[in-house]
Amino acid sequence: MIENTLQSLVPKNIEQLNRYVAGKTIAEVVETYNPRYIAKLASNENRLGCSPKVKAAINEAFKNIQDYPDPVARKLRAAIAEKNNVKDENVILTAGSESLLSMLCRTFFLNKQNAITANVTFVGFFVQAGVRGIHLKKIPVTSDYRFDVKAIVNAIDEHTKMIYIANPNNPTGTYINKQEYEWLLKQVPDHVLIIADEAYYEFAKDVEDYPKALDYDHDNVIVLRTFSKAYGLAGLRVGYGIAREEIINNLLKTKLTFEPTTLAQTAALAAYEDEDFLKKSIEVINSGKERLYSFFEEHGVQYLKSISNSVMMILQTEQEAVDFTQAMLEKGVILRRINAFGLPNCVRITIGIEKEMDHFEKSFKEVMAIK
Ligand SMILES: *Cc1c(COP(=O)(O)O)cnc(C)c1O
Repeated sequence: MIENTLQSLVPKNIEQLNRYVAGKTIAEVVETYNPRYIAKLASNENRLGCSPKVKAAINEAFKNIQDYPDPVARKLRAAIAEKNNVKDENVILTAGSESLLSMLCRTFFLNKQNAITANVTFVGFFVQAGVRGIHLKKIPVTSDYRFDVKAIVNAIDEHTKMIYIANPNNPTGTYINKQEYEWLLKQVPDHVLIIADEAYYEFAKDVEDYPKALDYDHDNVIVLRTFSKAYGLAGLRVGYGIAREEIINNLLKTKLTFEPTTLAQTAALAAYEDEDFLKKSIEVINSGKERLYSFFEEHGVQYLKSISNSVMMILQTEQEAVDFTQAMLEKGVILRRINAFGLPNCVRITIGIEKEMDHFEKSFKEVMAIK
């Protein structure tokens, strides 16, 4: 009886949707396995924490906590606009870039329109598109696990509204280069919006042939960035988009009015101004990646070179990936299986601080029973 009622209540696209399942929290792992030390290397967070300036900023902002937040986050917006050489009106602040993905799906689609992306990419986009009942054309990645721009362009039809590109991509850490991105911009017709999700921009920006989407003057592109990764503020939920004013104005209509919160806005501004902390974070990632590459080479592990803050391991089978992740978890190393991202035999490792990478290597050797 109740089941029947629910079936008529819930639309099919929601009923059949797989919700976003996040990596395990430290509290969950402590409860279940109680390991001596935990290295949380599952969710691409900043393992250094965040800028020490954030705490004082939050304390100050707390004094006005009874008041609603500034709906357009004017101070933070101005700082972002200035650094990126755009007008304030070109910037929108949201509760994480996931919220912006949701907003994009809410704002631009009519019935029967589709979006194109890769079959292996940020699962958050799959979920948000699914919520809105958008038909997703998931184009297989290339044999070297990169967005296949040619096949993506070939898939465009008159009902295509959006192309979602995470660059660098998550979970692979791979990227499309300048030449590919420039070619894509030329091919995409005016009725298609390109989402350039640059969640890992800060780690990628100095790579020579990495195309920074803002370097190209193109009307139909929205660039997405976040404070969750390099800036270490995942728990506060702040992301932003940069696009031409008409796009931003329409997104502002579908945004939940008071996101991000006052504390989040203030914290993000403090983090944004602390360039030393950002620099240190990038150094930790770069040296951690080199160390992990050498370790994997030494142990004959197949992996992908990454320009983000995580590295993807390629195992032979799904079962191997399940067993490896579970055995590491019991030793306190939280890793992310990426079956939901489209690769059941792969595991993603966030680069942590030295102590965490020590723990990863030690546990890896124990699990694989090698010296
Ligand atoms: C982590 C991530 C996001 C979401 O970040 P939030 O700002 O925390 O919502 C978006 N896109 C990609 C590719 C990511 O990896």
